[in-house]
Amino acid sequence: MEKRNITIAYGDGIGPEIMKSTMAIMEAAGAQLNYDEIKVGEQVYLSGNQSGISDESWDTLRKNKIFLKAPITTPQGGGYKSLNVTIRKSFGLYSNVRPSKAYSPYVTTHFPKMDLVVVRENEEDLYAGIEHQQTPEVVQCIKLISRPGSEKIIRYAFEYAIANNRKHVTCMTKDNIMKHADGLFHSIFKEVAKEYPEITSDHYIIDIGSARLANDPERFDVVVTLNLYGDILSDIASDISGSVGLGGSANIGDDFAMFEAIHGSAPDIAGQGIANPAGLLNGACMMLVHLGQGAVAAKIQNALFKTLEDGIHTGDIYQEGLSTERVGTDGFTRAMIERLGQNPTKFPVVELSEAKPISIKLKPYAPVKKDLVGVDVFLNYDEDGRDPDGLGAKMEATSTENLKLKVISNRGVQVYPNGKPETFKSDHWIVRFMGTKETISHADIIELLGSISNAGMDFIKIENLYFMDGERAFTLAQGEK
Ligand code: NAD
Repeated sequence: MEKRNITIAYGDGIGPEIMKSTMAIMEAAGAQLNYDEIKVGEQVYLSGNQSGISDESWDTLRKNKIFLKAPITTPQGGGYKSLNVTIRKSFGLYSNVRPSKAYSPYVTTHFPKMDLVVVRENEEDLYAGIEHQQTPEVVQCIKLISRPGSEKIIRYAFEYAIANNRKHVTCMTKDNIMKHADGLFHSIFKEVAKEYPEITSDHYIIDIGSARLANDPERFDVVVTLNLYGDILSDIASDISGSVGLGGSANIGDDFAMFEAIHGSAPDIAGQGIANPAGLLNGACMMLVHLGQGAVAAKIQNALFKTLEDGIHTGDIYQEGLSTERVGTDGFTRAMIERLGQNPTKFPVVELSEAKPISIKLKPYAPVKKDLVGVDVFLNYDEDGRDPDGLGAKMEATSTENLKLKVISNRGVQVYPNGKPETFKSDHWIVRFMGTKETISHADIIELLGSISNAGMDFIKIENLYFMDGERAFTLAQGEK
């Protein structure tokens, strides 16, 4: 087999220790790889590069298309952008696949049969990182959910289930609250699930779903969810399977993929030679399967099972009475290499063939009839003791012939007209104007904004209100009718 060029980065903290181990094990197992190393992370950030990666490194990544990355440290504050998020978004790595499996009884867990995969949407949601401070008191972070982004990850989850002989896909959202954003994801899930009758499916609200996952993970198979929920869920899953040090992760796009450990750079144990390399190694095995070197990945997985069942454990999974030897990273690496070619006797033997490539095709969408019916004007207002009725009177006077004030809300709760005196008021208000005609125009909004500006009010943002295909495409304030 021809050797495949990949890009590697040693990362920060325990990164170099576990990458060295992973590469030694892959080499000894016969992986057909050539490596181009790039520098990413803390050193690059602290040298003044806010993105944590140089332009030459981008070129290397683009050339090789496969990236095995050790964890990096993102310095706190200072406007540094997360390199992981940047790479995922720049290369369109829309799918983050995070398996969590129990290695019971050789790694202690309450859930010996646990074997689930979190398929996490990787580009959208709050991780788009669109944040603004709007008033002295209020900051916003915009949650963007797109139809194609949601459809792509949901289809990926079903295709992944089929390719990996899994039977059930669970969706988790918070669509009882975020009816439009999470509601879109859930409704697409229901549509797509119908196309896969051989796979059963269900949906949980994320709060009870994550409680169930933490308490009874053995009931789950594939879980598909939005970016933030998936990030949290997969860490929970990885931790309760035995150790956060065990989980690998694949970030998959149409023609680029990045593989890593779930965990971070663990600065608390860096340089001590005690880190568990299995998380990055499991990420590397996902990469080998992706590259069509499934037999090498299986050899490594079988050696990993054998090492674990022989009780040779790093400190994070060491347990008196169960483990036979406490080893550091190097000792674990040596034990793994000695066992390459051996099969586990207690765990089932892993057989991995070529990966079935998953390619996602989206259906064309029908055109949508979009009617502009009103506008929300966001205000910074901190006068007259924040009296909503006083503000209401001022804003009523700004109404124009085509746009009339309907309601004022503060943090999503109606405060005018007929507000409740008990409601807390911040300096951030949303004034809703509805059109007096069936549809309004941009010119109507511009006229209204002129009127508001002339009244000396500080508007900070507007949000257009639409009906899409005759359906209201915005939420009502709490209390609004
Ligand atoms: P962490 O995952 O680095 O560590 C959490 C705990 O788990 C620590 O006690 C650590 O010692 C332990 N641990 C993690 N990996 C281990 C391993 N392989 N073997 C043994 N023990 C292990 O999380 P954190 O402390 O919140 O984050 C540290 C840094 O990592 C932060 O700068 C964060 O931004 C970064 N981070 C990077 C990535 C990534 O590069 N993909 C992911 C998450 C966090």
